[in-house]
Amino acid sequence: MIPNPDSTARAASTAKVSHRILIVEDEEVLAFGVRDALRHAGHEPQVCHNGKTALEMLQRDSFDLVVLDLMLPGMSGLDLLRALRQHNHKLRVVILTAMSSEADVVRGFEAGADDYVPKPFSPRELLARVEAQFRRVEKEDSQSPQIQLPGGNLVDLARLEVIGGGKVVPLTPREGDILDYLVRNRHRVVTREDLLQDVWHYRNPNIETRTVDIHIVGLRRKIEPDPANPTLIQTVRGKGYRWFS
Ligand code: CA
Repeated sequence: MIPNPDSTARAASTAKVSHRILIVEDEEVLAFGVRDALRHAGHEPQVCHNGKTALEMLQRDSFDLVVLDLMLPGMSGLDLLRALRQHNHKLRVVILTAMSSEADVVRGFEAGADDYVPKPFSPRELLARVEAQFRRVEKEDSQSPQIQLPGGNLVDLARLEVIGGGKVVPLTPREGDILDYLVRNRHRVVTREDLLQDVWHYRNPNIETRTVDIHIVGLRRKIEPDPANPTLIQTVRGKGYRWFS
C-alpha cells in the first residue's frame, strides 16, 4: 500500500521521541513481547539473552534505557547492573524480576536500578513504567539547573552563578545560554554557526563568528580551572567547540 503523504506527514509531526532500549531477558517469548510493545510505541528496542553480551553491547553502543531481567544465565542482572554503574550513571535501568521480595527490590535499587516491574506483568504496564522514566529524564534535562564541574566549581544556570572556592561569579544570560547549549549537545562538536543560530538566533550565521569566540573566552575565564589552557570548553580546530564530558 502506498502511504498517503498527508497522513504520513501528520504522523511524523505528532510522533514522540524515539529511544534506544536494550532488553536483557533470557525468556525469548517474553523478550520479544516486550520488544514488540516498545517498537509499537515508536521506540528502537534490541534484545539480548545474556548478561555478558548485554554488557558488551552497552559499552559499545549508546542506549537510553535498559529493561533488565535479574535471573539470567551466566552473569546475573544484578552483577551486570553493578558493572554498568561503575562508569555509567545516566542510563536508565528498569529491572524485571520474579524475585519481588522486599529484599530483592532493595538490592536492585542499591545496585543502581531506577525502577522495577514484578513478574508477571503486561507489556503495557512495562511500557508505562518505561515512558515514566523518559518523562523524568526530559524534565531533568529541561531544568538542567546545576552543572558540577571538575575541580569543585558548581554552575547554577537558574541563578546564573558560578560557585566555588568561597566565591560567587555572576554569568551573563548569554554566557548561561552558551553553557547550557554546550552541555546539552555534549555528544557532538558545536560549531560557531550552531551557536549563532541557536543561541543568538541570527538568521545569517556566516557573519560575526568572532562574537562567539569573544564570549567563549569570557566564559572560560569564569569556569575553567586554568583559562589559558581550557579543558572544559575544548576547541576543536577548524570546527568549533566541545564540552569536555
Ligand atoms: Ca530470566
